[in-house]
Amino acid sequence: MKINIHAGHNAPGKKACGAVGYIDESKEARKVKERVKKMLKAAGNTVHDCTVDNGISQLDVLNKIVKKCNANKVDLDISIHFNACKQDKGDGKTKGVEVLVYNKKGQVTKYAEAIAKEVANALGVTNRGVKEDKSLYFLRKTNAPALLVEVCFVDDKDDVEKYNTDKAAEAIVKAIASVK
Ligand SMILES: [Zn+2]
Repeated sequence: MKINIHAGHNAPGKKACGAVGYIDESKEARKVKERVKKMLKAAGNTVHDCTVDNGISQLDVLNKIVKKCNANKVDLDISIHFNACKQDKGDGKTKGVEVLVYNKKGQVTKYAEAIAKEVANALGVTNRGVKEDKSLYFLRKTNAPALLVEVCFVDDKDDVEKYNTDKAAEAIVKAIASVK
């Protein structure tokens, strides 16, 4: 397959650098992206890294990401993010993983469902499933079938305790390979 992948937001510490809780979204998304990229390449896929580290605003980061994505003709466009807003100091329940797509009726939903399932299994967190989102710039503007993975919640202690970079990355790669 030909695949675009990027880590969401700007580089850690810069403007528009994502959510920070018990872990830092920008940092972790970049680690997961790097691992997924290596494994996809090792499996024989062509992979383009569309991560942006030099944006000057949120819109600038998004614009640059989409420009990089649309410069390549690919089968799949993957965005790696982490969720936030739970502010949970630990209640024994994970908030979990979800995958966003522009249109649930599209073929890309097969990949999204597989990723949500595999990541939930690998980390032992709740599978929040596939959600449709018509508002996200990345999903709206990219030409190829696109999906956005929210690996887990950076500010949910239960999620962060279960989170592991390698496990999350391996689950995403396994999921992509499983779709026929
Ligand atoms: Zn994000």
